[in-house]
Amino acid sequence: MIFRQLFHRISSTYTYLLAERQGGEALLIDPVLENTAQYVRLIEELDLKLVLAVDTHIHADHITALGALRDQTGCASAMGDMTRAECVSIQFREGEKLQVDNLNLDILYTPGHTDDSYSLLLPDRVFTGDTLLIRGTGRTDFQNGDPAAQYDSLFGKLLKLREETLVYPAHDYNGMTVSTIGEEKRHNPRLQVSGKQAYINQMNALELDNPRLMDIAVPANHACGALAAA
Ligand code: FE
Repeated sequence: MIFRQLFHRISSTYTYLLAERQGGEALLIDPVLENTAQYVRLIEELDLKLVLAVDTHIHADHITALGALRDQTGCASAMGDMTRAECVSIQFREGEKLQVDNLNLDILYTPGHTDDSYSLLLPDRVFTGDTLLIRGTGRTDFQNGDPAAQYDSLFGKLLKLREETLVYPAHDYNGMTVSTIGEEKRHNPRLQVSGKQAYINQMNALELDNPRLMDIAVPANHACGALAAA
């Protein structure tokens, strides 16, 4: 498998490039508009054909490259069926698979950070978006975020995966690149709670500023990153 973890410095976003083999089809997860040229160049260098770009949820801190990649490469764009983004060509739902050559990604619906948050699962790794971060979890205070739903997504779905499963989140702000389910169960401070209500209380007690780009990024991302021509 070809696997690359790419980083957008300003928003601390991780973008993942996946392909089964050189010369084959490729998938990008959570691409950032400003890095589009870098992705296109890397895909060419690795002799890949981009067939699909996926966002795990509507991002509030950066503008997605889904529209730009569609325009430049002709790839399909995908989000989960709970999304309000009408620009995507594929809407997936839990229980379905995304297939790129012989790579099959299982879809898990993992709301809580937003109500349109999904995780993508391969046999040895999971892309958790902002549901599960390394030693953290995504905030639940905007975009229909819901700490109770996030608790269910975490404890009912993600933490039930095999302990060795590698965890690749959509962001890291502390220089961490990868974790495992077992490591997060034991060492993620947000997960050391007595139950659902304690988790909800913990999340509701966070007082966070809105992301700097939120008022621009959210509406733009509803259009796959196409900027309003106002
Ligand atoms: Fe997010």
